[in-house]
Amino acid sequence: MRKNILYILLLTIAISNNISKTAQCSEIDLFDSSVIQSLPMLQLQAEVDKLLGSNDPVDIRHKIHIVWELVDRLKKEKNKTDELMRYLEQGLRHNAWNLKYQLDYATLLKEKGKAKEAQERAEIIATYSEKDELIDAASEILKKPKLPSIPVRKVLDGKEHTIILVPVGKVDVWLLFELQKKLQEVLKTKVEIQDFHISAPKYTRDRRDIIIEDIRERLIKQSELPDISRLLKDMSINKSDLENDKVVIKIANRINELTIGKEAVEAFNKLLEESIGKNSQWDINTLYSKVVEQTGNEKKPKLKYLGICNLDTYTTGSNFLFGTASGKGYGIISYRRFSAEFNESPPNRTRLLDRTLKQALSSLGFMYNIERCSIPTCPRTYPNNLEEHDAKSTELCSKCKEAFEKALK
Ligand SMILES: [Zn+2]
Repeated sequence: MRKNILYILLLTIAISNNISKTAQCSEIDLFDSSVIQSLPMLQLQAEVDKLLGSNDPVDIRHKIHIVWELVDRLKKEKNKTDELMRYLEQGLRHNAWNLKYQLDYATLLKEKGKAKEAQERAEIIATYSEKDELIDAASEILKKPKLPSIPVRKVLDGKEHTIILVPVGKVDVWLLFELQKKLQEVLKTKVEIQDFHISAPKYTRDRRDIIIEDIRERLIKQSELPDISRLLKDMSINKSDLENDKVVIKIANRINELTIGKEAVEAFNKLLEESIGKNSQWDINTLYSKVVEQTGNEKKPKLKYLGICNLDTYTTGSNFLFGTASGKGYGIISYRRFSAEFNESPPNRTRLLDRTLKQALSSLGFMYNIERCSIPTCPRTYPNNLEEHDAKSTELCSKCKEAFEKALK
């Protein structure tokens, strides 16, 4: 009995144990953001000094977020510039690819009259950053022009083949323009950017939903086992009741209570509460429908609308999805999982553009009714993960190239 139940709730128990362990710990939990944020300034500074003085680069990198918390607080205070610069520099020694703080440092260097040093850092931000705000701020230091704004919507007559890139929610403008340029080069057709003011709806799934779904799947799979079926019977729960989240939580807590005790119930409920709004995801079909509804009453077959968003997208039964499209001439792609921020890797604008371009070519193919490709390096081949996506080239295979040429005639 115990073995099966432990298997079912492996996830919850592991997390519950973890929570109770940290709760028992007398030291400050440096990984609990609410604890860090509520630390008094002097205590936070003492923790940061202790960390930076430890000469343990692995530990410093692991806990670098407390240095950045201190930096953020110092930024709000007056007459703390020297102190702020000292912590920024020390933090960047351990987290040099954090371009947000590189920008803060470059800005302060400029204010201090150290123009050359400021420009050197600004140049790196302007070259590598994947975010509009940072690129613009770095351009200002470098006295370079700002990014253009998204063109306003204009009505097209539909006589000419045109791909229209449509931002959904907040999208980085640099990426839209670079993608436009690349698609024009590759497909040799007209590509426009148009703002239909499509806002991002509320997320449709978060970490709490995923935890509950995981337990539900385990319960359904094992509901025929004698111990589980007896438990469900004792609780007067039918298999069909498992569709209800509240029922799943109730069973999880009953098992937690039976196997560990009240503390596990409390820890599990706390975990669920803390998971609300975390790792939020959007059902790609909801976003696709928005693109169709808000762009597509024109019925002009030569116009294709490709939505672009920076939201983590999925569809029922999948952890994530890079994009979806249909032969009706509409599609939507997400670059969220291509970004350095999502993957916690150093920012790299060229990489992000290439990844987005490959996905755009893949989705556009479906919008022109070109069937899925089977050449591993062709951008139109289905990738099972980001590694396979990266292994693809940005150049179409000869068959896909021909198919696009034919469709765009
Ligand atoms: Zn191909």
